[in-house]
Amino acid sequence: MPKPSAHPGDPHFVDRSGWLRAAVLGANDGIVSVSSLIVGVAAANPDRGAIMIAGGAALAAGAMSMAAGEYVSVSSQSDTERADIAREKASLKQFPDAEFAELAAIYREKGLSEATAHRVATELTRKDPLAAHVRDELGLSATRAARPLQAAFASAATFSVAGALPLLAAIAAPPGAAISVVLCVTAVALAALGALSAKVGGAKIGSGPMLRATFRVVLWGVFAMAVTAGVGFLFGVAA
Ligand SMILES: [Zn+2]
Repeated sequence: MPKPSAHPGDPHFVDRSGWLRAAVLGANDGIVSVSSLIVGVAAANPDRGAIMIAGGAALAAGAMSMAAGEYVSVSSQSDTERADIAREKASLKQFPDAEFAELAAIYREKGLSEATAHRVATELTRKDPLAAHVRDELGLSATRAARPLQAAFASAATFSVAGALPLLAAIAAPPGAAISVVLCVTAVALAALGALSAKVGGAKIGSGPMLRATFRVVLWGVFAMAVTAGVGFLFGVAA
């Protein structure tokens, strides 16, 4: 049964934060790392074939490393959560009174009176003691549980789709214009990503939070490309 909301027209977005973070991270990484690598190689060696190979390799390697990184990091988070829940379950069996007192104390800290806290702890313990402790003591909830495969897939998929943009731009660019075309396409793609992630996160179109998110994403992306182009240029001069 869906939870009743006091403001159904303007819902909360916090339960999107898990996959949104992985998706934005994947997309941002895809655009920035593939475009930076293309610009870096183009600055060192304008041979079209070399640029395409570098771009394709960056796309494949990046998507795989994103998936592996997300899977490993979210798996360790999920392991920690599972271990904590198992510890709580054992403690509820071994020290039911101490656990009950702990739960009542949590409700008192939330502002309930002694009697009400005791009553709430009694009723929730009668209903499902582990659920009450997992939610109110450990702060874990089903909607925000760590999902390694979902996170790995979300970031690899968004990395690939977003990273393909600068590569397609490099392929479509007229000879000798790869750097400027990739720079323009990447800046526009990053601005779109910043705005989209702010929108999905609940920001209003054109609002301060959306403009800040957009500016932040574009600034760091362009900075990364500038540094890589500089390194590529130095290598080109040295070669
Ligand atoms: Zn407990």
